[in-house]
Amino acid sequence: MPPGCRLTRTGEAAAPRLAPGRRAADLPGMALTTFATTTFAAARSRAHGPTAALWHAVEVHRLPAEVDGACELTLCGTLARVALDEPWPSSSREVCGTCTTLAGVTPA
Ligand SMILES: [Zn+2]
Repeated sequence: MPPGCRLTRTGEAAAPRLAPGRRAADLPGMALTTFATTTFAAARSRAHGPTAALWHAVEVHRLPAEVDGACELTLCGTLARVALDEPWPSSSREVCGTCTTLAGVTPA
């Protein structure tokens, strides 16, 4: 290759090496979010076959007014309708055991 020529043997211009730069993995301006307090809301699932309708827990990340009556994914993976008039943990006997465990609620 003559001096000063940037073409390689295959005719392509020599590209700079694709070495990753040294920078942090976090995006600039990314805010730290504290998950110390998680708010749960009670949500009622529909009866499905032999399974009765149960009260489940839904993690609330938005304003309560936005999720009231909405169909949300519960902690155990069921779709259930949020009912803010029902407290969580629910005093009802028809409470999902998986949601109770995942929400960290100790049974009374
Ligand atoms: Zn559940």
